[in-house]
Amino acid sequence: MSQNSFNNDFILASREHKKEDTLVRVDDILIGGDSFVAIAGPCAVENEEQLVRIAEMVKRSGAQILRGGAYKPRTSPYAFQGLGDQGLKILKNASEMIGMPVVTEVMDIRDVEKVAYCADIIQLGSRNMHNYSLIKEVAHTKKPILLKRGLCATIEEWIMTAEYILQEGNEQVILCERGIRTFENSTRNTLDLSAVAYVRAVSHLPVIVDPSHGTGRWYLVSPLAKAAYPVGAHGVMIEVHHSPKEALSDGEQSITPEKFHILMEEMKELKNLNRAKWNWHKA
Ligand code: PEP
Ligand code: MN
Repeated sequence: MSQNSFNNDFILASREHKKEDTLVRVDDILIGGDSFVAIAGPCAVENEEQLVRIAEMVKRSGAQILRGGAYKPRTSPYAFQGLGDQGLKILKNASEMIGMPVVTEVMDIRDVEKVAYCADIIQLGSRNMHNYSLIKEVAHTKKPILLKRGLCATIEEWIMTAEYILQEGNEQVILCERGIRTFENSTRNTLDLSAVAYVRAVSHLPVIVDPSHGTGRWYLVSPLAKAAYPVGAHGVMIEVHHSPKEALSDGEQSITPEKFHILMEEMKELKNLNRAKWNWHKA
């Protein structure tokens, strides 16, 4: 660690090391550069009917990638822990049936192989951002990785974890800002949009925003998803549930497919901003 916390110690993830933006490829979808991707789906896979229903609706509204957790890192051991292996199978079937790539979290090193088989993007969750042995194992799969920022991690620590993945020879890393813990308690976390602009300035890696975990409140998801665009995010990841009140996890931060549709329509207008011309770099 350098004495000056404003110095970047990461090398492979830095702009100095690589000038051009890294593009992460998932089927024919490119994440990074000038693109903006919408990832949507339920917090957790609850059953096949639920997942397929939500997937069809978000796809119709323009989401390109489906999300859904099979293994859920819940704060309480009494809360729904996810369907596990069964959830993974449901995810793979839905993905093939609907024709949407999927992202799902792996929590345990013993599950890495099967998650790599079923998922197009492997999510490393906030609680595992410092779990370097899990991270290296996931890097070895060569699959695209969605790396969430740790709940209490600095931007530098977060990019350093990406550096571990790059060092293992996997360049397919997407950073995901999902809010950090602060003294503020009106929102579940404090969504750090300055981190997004910062990442764009110092790194070539794509960065997306998760306004669902970032705010914890469904009515803040749409404003913060839109705010992600002008600060330079390469996409958003949003929790959507057809019946948030009945969701087995994170219902209070899930928006309905109807609200997601409105958000996607509003985002189309934002894209007229032509931000490709804007300067994101320090120079
Ligand atoms: C999730 O996206 O399902 C999740 C658990 O997020 P986080 O790791 O950011 O809490
Ligand atoms: Mn969730």
